Amino acid sequence: MQASEATRLYFDQAADRLDLPESWRTMLLMPRREVQVQVSFERDHGPPHTVIGYRVQHDNSRGPMKGGLRYHPEVDLDEVRSLASLMTWKTAVVDLPYGGAKGGIAIDPKQLSVPELERMTRAFVDQIHDIVGPDVDIPAPDMGTDYRVMAWFRNQWEKYHGFNPAVITGKPVEEYGARGREEATGRGVGIVTLKLLKRLGRKPEATRVAIQGFGNVGTHTAKFLHEAEISVVAISDLSGAYHNARGLNVPDLLHYKLAQPSGLLTDYQGADKIPAQELLEMDVDVLIPAALGNQITAENAGRVQAPIIIEAANGPVDPEADEILNRKGTIIVPDILANAGGVTVSYFEWVQNRQHYRWGLDRVRQELDRTMSGAFEDVWQLAQQEKVSLRTAAFMIAIKRVYRASQLSGTF
Ligand code: NAD
Repeated sequence: MQASEATRLYFDQAADRLDLPESWRTMLLMPRREVQVQVSFERDHGPPHTVIGYRVQHDNSRGPMKGGLRYHPEVDLDEVRSLASLMTWKTAVVDLPYGGAKGGIAIDPKQLSVPELERMTRAFVDQIHDIVGPDVDIPAPDMGTDYRVMAWFRNQWEKYHGFNPAVITGKPVEEYGARGREEATGRGVGIVTLKLLKRLGRKPEATRVAIQGFGNVGTHTAKFLHEAEISVVAISDLSGAYHNARGLNVPDLLHYKLAQPSGLLTDYQGADKIPAQELLEMDVDVLIPAALGNQITAENAGRVQAPIIIEAANGPVDPEADEILNRKGTIIVPDILANAGGVTVSYFEWVQNRQHYRWGLDRVRQELDRTMSGAFEDVWQLAQQEKVSLRTAAFMIAIKRVYRASQLSGTF
């Protein structure tokens, strides 16, 4: 199933509960603008290289559009369109004053030298600088892009429009970035996990968690949960899965990962190695897929034993698996809520840039906790009230907010 079909399906499930007329569905689903541009840049050797760059601006009825920039060979218009619409629902569910957008370039950034990456980013900005801006559309990092790309982007955009670091978020901390941005998504995942356990009357110290993926999101989630005295019993990355029934030594795993040139856990000796796919089917209390999309499908959903799944990655449970798991009574915290910590701290970065004022890490963490906890409670309450899944409740809240803002402002 294509990414956009899955989003449409979840949207419709919630729109049906809201009795949303078809004309409104079309309006809320169709992006405001889709831009496809030629990005040509010089290679270090040989002729220039040309790739396609995309920016899809989905909705701006609640504020400027917000969404990442992805550099990945599989980037195409369908994927960018679907991710842009997910950003609209994500910013709405956590109630940030933003709409949704997404952009990207169909290229493998690992095949480029650093100067080539910089030239490509600047060439992309040359093509789209007029349609992004601090009050219009604010990009951020996503797969294949990082704080360096954000710094080049800002610098190139400012050549046209003058000083304004709020044009992009996820910048280096020394260059108007926010403290706590790097840990934000994993920390947000941890916050909603604790809130859910409390709601279910489960004790953190009696909870066993498995995490798929040990990159930015997986490491910070593991660290946060370990510090909350939750037992992280399994972790996987591209090198395989590592298991200890009595709980992994998370600080040791982090230390080991940092010392490896590959950044992987290859040959880690402090735990038992198990086949990577087994992690998803383990007997644990909470499963946190934090690596890729479409990891739990109709093929393996029946074998997933965890009664709770927190979607740290985007779209790790596909719609067929979602249905199977819902029938089994598995509680799933959906991606648009679970991984919204990153865009929330991006919002804090934008706020600080606009005020020319810097927050300390404590304030960032406090505000993140308040935002994520509040959003979780809204979704939990509605799910109980309407007897729907947390995913449908999250989409219902988001759609209602966007619909209401469009109605009130007459943006249609
Ligand atoms: P990352 O590239 O830093 O880490 C990905 C991790 O997954 C790596 O440890 C990699 O080894 C591992 N991995 C890859 N394939 C795997 C496999 N088949 N089995 C097990 N592990 C595998 O990426 P990230 O930034 O941590 O993002 C992870 C997910 O979270 C993505 O879906 C991303 O879209 C989503 N997300 C990230 C953020 C953010 O702020 N970084 C925000 C929202 C959503």
